[in-house]
Amino acid sequence: MNPPAPRRRGPHTTRDAIVWLAAYLAAVTVPLFALLPGPAAGRGFTWDFAMALGYAGLAMFGVQFALTARFKRATAPFGIDIVYYFHRYLALAALAVALGHYGMLRATNPAALGSADPFVAPPHMTAGRVALVLFALVIASSLARRRLRIDYDAWRVAHAALATAAFAAALWHLFGAGRFLDTVWKQALWAAYGAFWVLLIAWVRVARPWRVARRPWTVAEVRAERGRVWTLVLEPAYPTEGLRFAPGQFAWLALRASPFAMREHPFSIASSAERPRRIELSIKELGDFTSTIKHTRRGETAWLDAPYGTFGIDEHPAAFGYAFVAGGVGIAPIMSMLRTLADRGDRRPLVLFYGNRVWERVAFREELDALAQRLDLKVVHVLQEPPPGWTGERGFVTEDVLMRHLPVTRHRFEYFLCGPTPMTVSVERALDALGVAAERVHSEIFDWV
Ligand SMILES: Cc1cc2nc3c(=O)[nH]c(=O)nc-3n(C[C@H](O)[C@H](O)[C@H](O)COP(=O)(O)OP(=O)(O)OC[C@H]3O[C@@H](n4cnc5c(N)ncnc54)[C@H](O)[C@@H]3O)c2cc1C
Repeated sequence: MNPPAPRRRGPHTTRDAIVWLAAYLAAVTVPLFALLPGPAAGRGFTWDFAMALGYAGLAMFGVQFALTARFKRATAPFGIDIVYYFHRYLALAALAVALGHYGMLRATNPAALGSADPFVAPPHMTAGRVALVLFALVIASSLARRRLRIDYDAWRVAHAALATAAFAAALWHLFGAGRFLDTVWKQALWAAYGAFWVLLIAWVRVARPWRVARRPWTVAEVRAERGRVWTLVLEPAYPTEGLRFAPGQFAWLALRASPFAMREHPFSIASSAERPRRIELSIKELGDFTSTIKHTRRGETAWLDAPYGTFGIDEHPAAFGYAFVAGGVGIAPIMSMLRTLADRGDRRPLVLFYGNRVWERVAFREELDALAQRLDLKVVHVLQEPPPGWTGERGFVTEDVLMRHLPVTRHRFEYFLCGPTPMTVSVERALDALGVAAERVHSEIFDWV
């Protein structure tokens, strides 16, 4: 059976981005407008403003759940990495707004807050205080996770549990305080918000994992590459034409843990998009999970939640040519693009700058030589510690290195960068200095979580 043609995806537009930003603003501000009419409003500006801050803070925290729910259409115009950054900074903003609600009441109307003693205070007021403390804890533990060396998987479970508890406590506070739920339609509005969040959590924690669990994959091969990289080859263990994806996209992999266990890891799909029944993930040994890949046995079951991301050539199908800059295992999504271009018989000019420390550890270097025969591809290896007699580029991918190898038509190329953040940042600057338009430069970041 011939594999199906991969789904060609058009570029995501600014209009999509504006629509989703408007949807975000609406979700956050609708509860504020709900305050305006009704008998409870009009107790003075500071009182109304304090209430408005409370509503806005709660709505902002609510939307946080949606931001990391992996909704493809909502994340596509921005890129999932940007959405995660947005999630991080909006959490701080939401906490500031919620603290503003509390602080303003404490300053202007302390009687309304009543006693802080949980044995004396009404339960919904204690719930409000608990929500504030829990939200602060969720944010502090996330910001300090790496510094405190908190295990990622344990943090993720605690993060989800604490955030849900904080949000439930905040809703309890809202319904208990109830001053602004004086009309049926306001109650309906907040009931609808509450139902939306319950459904969202049910989707993220139950429905989506269930869908993923019904589509198992089998490990067909575990291949050692150079540079402590292991390629996991997966084939579908359920009736399907395969996984349709665009080259450069990534998958969430669950291996030796059910999709319900919240222990998935993101990896770029390294194989050709023209071969959807044989998915390859090339994984560098780095930490707790990635160091176990080499012990994976043929026949083991894996699950893929995929595809995600907008990094890739199919977002820019009309480009005159493509240039790639990879550092280390950042080559994985670029291998997918090169393999796909080769399978499609593409004849456009391509240049790959590939930075590594030593020659012996350059993953896929033999296959890149073979791809250079099938494609109009120039491969430029850049080594930090080249072997004796090396005549190629040495050091890092700098402006000079780019200048030496890019063709004069470089302004018409699309650029794809994937590697350590310092490398991507310095190459972005170098391309800017060479006059390449910023909208032609696309970066994939591996450490946004
Ligand atoms: C879009 C994307 C594509 C990626 N593609 C590749 C690839 O093709 N090849 C490759 O080798 N690596 C890739 N990575 C990086 C890879 O996901 C991490 O190296 C891996 O999850 C680290 O897990 P660990 O337990 O081995 O490392 P640890 O040392 O335990 O963790 C190191 C850091 O990795 C991150 N991390 C750990 N577990 C997870 C998780 N479950 N989900 C998200 N992040 C986690 C955390 O920030 C953690 O602090 C990609 C990352 C992203 C975001």
